[in-house]
Order: sequence, then C-alpha cells, then structure tokens
Amino acid sequence: MRRLPVFLILDVSDSMIGEPHRYLEAGVEALTKKLRQDPQALETVHLSIIAFAGQVKTIVPLIDLPTFYAPKLPIGAGTSLGAALEHLMAEMDKNVIPTTPTAKGDWKPVIYFLTDGKPTDKYQDAIKKWQQHYAKRCLMIVIGLGQYADLSAMAGISDEAFVYNGEKEADFARFIQWMTLSVKSQSVAVDKQSSATGCVSLEKAGGFLEKFDFNSTYSDQDCVVFVGRCQKFKKPYLIKYDRMPTFMEMGLDLSKMDAGQKLYHVTGCYPTDESYFDWSEDKENVNPVINVKNLVGGVGCPYCGNAYALGICKCGAVFCVGDDENAQCPWCEAQLKMQSSSADSEGFEITRSKG
Ligand SMILES: [Zn+2]
Ligand SMILES: [Zn+2]
Repeated sequence: MRRLPVFLILDVSDSMIGEPHRYLEAGVEALTKKLRQDPQALETVHLSIIAFAGQVKTIVPLIDLPTFYAPKLPIGAGTSLGAALEHLMAEMDKNVIPTTPTAKGDWKPVIYFLTDGKPTDKYQDAIKKWQQHYAKRCLMIVIGLGQYADLSAMAGISDEAFVYNGEKEADFARFIQWMTLSVKSQSVAVDKQSSATGCVSLEKAGGFLEKFDFNSTYSDQDCVVFVGRCQKFKKPYLIKYDRMPTFMEMGLDLSKMDAGQKLYHVTGCYPTDESYFDWSEDKENVNPVINVKNLVGGVGCPYCGNAYALGICKCGAVFCVGDDENAQCPWCEAQLKMQSSSADSEGFEITRSKG
C-alpha cells in the first residue's frame, strides 16, 4: 500500500500561549481520532508533526495512524519560519519515498502549515529553495490562526492560504472537522488515482475559515509576552498582554493623554516549564523593550499565589512578588527591596519576549 504522507507544521510560539495552544493540542488529538475511523485514511495516511517557535523539531516522525500518538506541544519564544521550512524540506528528503522507473513511491505529500504569522528569522532563502525544488512535489495548505494572523510572509509558499477566525473551543472543533475532511479527500483521491486540491468547501468549517487575501493590509494586532519565574518555586511562567485600541482608535479625545499610545491589556499568566528555553531563539535574547506604563492590569503567580507576577529585578528579569517588600530574584539571586512602579511616574522599561 502506497503511503500518503501528511505533515502538520505547528507554530508553538509564545504568542499562542493560553487557549490557542490548548485548542491546538486538543485539535491534533481530535483529527487523528477521526481519521482512524475512516478505513481509507487508516490505510494510507501517515502523519508527522513538526513544531516550531525559535527552534524547530520533529515531535512525531512520519508514522501510520494506528501507531500515532497525539503529543503534548511545547512552547517557546520566536517564530522561525525560515528554519521551519528548511526543516520540513530536510524531513521530506529523508522520509518521503520517491517514485522511480521501477517502483512506485509515496503519494504526493500534503502539508498543513498552521501559524499566527510574523516570522522573526530570515526566511527569504528558504522560500526561494522551496519554490524551486519542493512546491510542485506536494500540496501546501497554509492556515493563519486568529483573525489578525499576518500571512504576508507566506505568499511565496502557497497560494492556498486561509485564516481561521473563530474564538471558542467549539469553533476550533469545526475547523478541525474541516481539516479531517480535507485529509480524507486526499486519501480518496489517491485511491481513485485522481488529483484533489485538498480544499474542501470552506462552508464545512462552519464559517470560521476564510481565504487569506495576500493583497490586503493586515490590522496591527499585537501582543506582548513576558517570561517570569516564581520566587518561591523557581518555575517559569508566561504573562500575556494583548493590545487594546488606542484612545485615538476608540474615537476619544482625551487631551491630557497620549491619544496614540499603544496599550496592552493583561490576558493571563500561564505556567510553563524549562523546555520553553530550549524552544526559544536564544536564551539571553535582548528583545524589544516596552514601558510598564503601556500595560493595563496585573495578574498573580500561577504557582504560589503571590499577587503580582510582573515584579522586575535590577537584572531585568521578571518574577512574582507578594506583600513582603523583601524579595530574592529567582534568576540572579540578588536580595531586593521592592517598590511599586506607580511610585515612579516615568515608568520603566522591561524586556519582552519575541512571540
Ligand atoms: Zn510565585
Ligand atoms: Zn535578578
């Protein structure tokens, strides 16, 4: 039986922290569960999962559905699109069996590339190589996650790009249902020796999927992610702030305020583990900085219950603080006397992660 290789390339950058990350994990599980119930898919589909943030790794090598096990997905800083493409090309070279004059190889591989966009590495060379040597040998479907996903960097990779714009878990389930149908249609097409585009009607995604317009200018939605450590348990966590409309964008004229000031509202604080640093671009990354004046709302430590997860040491690192003004930085171990940032009207700058 000839194999149908299906590669899922998943963006696990820390801008995905929280619900998107959880939905993605559940989505992979649901996808494989449904595919296993389909006799045609069960026989032909082989699945591989490649995750990328600052670093890229194969999490599940190309494997048949009965053996496949839905993995836990990591999270890291950075969105290395170029590195992800290079990795995918190497994986295709290594694992996809080509058809020769004497033997039939694998069916044309199908790739689902899921990302929220905004690459942080140099990707142009990888795209050029992809276009020259790989694009014709497979079917690449690019899916932007979130209505503000910016896929403009992906223009050279695929002309079939979609944006998932749902919010709730049930919405994401509809999208996974669409992906399942798309994979199934591939396995049916190879059975009938015909070619399918892989693009099942978008209506099947319950209205949560639309074609991405490469000519459109995307809206400047942004988020900031900080990596901190619990003072008591030393474990790392991620604090996410999403950009909110400026006073100007809200149509308010507040003469004493800076009407164009970019503000970010706290979304949540999520526990992570040391693997976060292995998946990040570089461990001591000197990232863009943001002033705490632009941050609205605070959040507590997910480990010890300290009220404020965004305490800043003089070393620049983030850690949790409670009522006690005496603290020790879990990063550099300095003994500190904490003071509230409101005492300093200028605010101060903190290092943010690259997302
Ligand atoms: Zn803590
Ligand atoms: Zn420190």
